[in-house]
Amino acid sequence: MMIKYSAALVFFFSFQLFLFGQDQLTATITGSGSPKFNTERAGPSVLISYKDTKILVDMGNGVQANLDRLNVKTKDIDALLFTHHHLDHNEEFTPIFIHAIMGGNTFQVVGPKPTSNLVESLLQNYEEDINYRLSKKNRTLKDVASNFSVQELNGDETFNIGGIEISCTPVNHTIATMAYRFSADGQSIVISGDLSYSESLSKLAKQADYLIIDSGGSIELGKTNTRTGSGKNRNNKTHAHVNLDESSRMANEAEVKNLVLTHFNFNHVDEVATSAALQENYSGPVFYAEDLMTFPHREGNKQAVEQTKNEKNTKETPSFNNMLSKMDENKDGKISKNEAKGKLKENFENRDTNKDGFISENELNRRKR
Ligand SMILES: [Zn+2]
Repeated sequence: MMIKYSAALVFFFSFQLFLFGQDQLTATITGSGSPKFNTERAGPSVLISYKDTKILVDMGNGVQANLDRLNVKTKDIDALLFTHHHLDHNEEFTPIFIHAIMGGNTFQVVGPKPTSNLVESLLQNYEEDINYRLSKKNRTLKDVASNFSVQELNGDETFNIGGIEISCTPVNHTIATMAYRFSADGQSIVISGDLSYSESLSKLAKQADYLIIDSGGSIELGKTNTRTGSGKNRNNKTHAHVNLDESSRMANEAEVKNLVLTHFNFNHVDEVATSAALQENYSGPVFYAEDLMTFPHREGNKQAVEQTKNEKNTKETPSFNNMLSKMDENKDGKISKNEAKGKLKENFENRDTNKDGFISENELNRRKR
């Protein structure tokens, strides 16, 4: 037991080190989901880290829980950035912002309109609460108001936070939306926000190491892509999100070194089919974001993510997709008895309720009920 515990600790700390113990510019997915509530995917969010600087881009539902898993405290965050103000991207801004004020942090809030309005109305509505809580430390909102600044972005701009240079550009979406490029030490990571095809993004992302982009048009495992996948049959009506043709065209035009798809409204991506559609335009590596994945991507990343999730929440059982990635050697989307490992192999006969010699997603999930 002791040995097991120590091993887990070593693993956990090596993961922390792996995430934050290096001076390199990194992006950690703190939410890979969509407006639809999902316990496996928090709402859209990315944590950018470089040396001591941490910037949180978008704050969807569940982001605070993921920051806790990463051991990142509100006081460690230097800036809260928004790509845009759709609720799924700013849902947890209120609590994070108020905790930051309470903690007496020095931080910035940056985003397109109505960022200033949002902050002003929050301060108005919560002034009494904030003052009451601060009064315990003999302070008022006025005492801490100079600790943070609010910057509203309108067009192409470049500014610095800590050692990170940030450039932004407006992209096409249903409301004012910014894409950001983060650069430090010759490394660059671009976050697209939600968008439809935007020439400005191809320019902003020019030769970036990673482009983290709206996953619009991605194909769900077990479903065929009929409507938005290739996008070839799409009409010219304005739309909110890219399809795979558009995202891969922008990645190709920008010549990005790696493409990361995020903002999924389902759990399991058909990575083979989605990558095949993307490859019509873009030939570089493609990654499918999951909560707590870190880029630059390294071998063992996924394993470390799973380990951390399991350490923090032992009630969570591994998803079918995780099982597949570990066991499905012939990539037929099913787990045979030969492929099964550990507990799954031991209980194979019981689990295989239809006795076809394979464990399907339904059969795996049955035990959770
Ligand atoms: Zn949106």
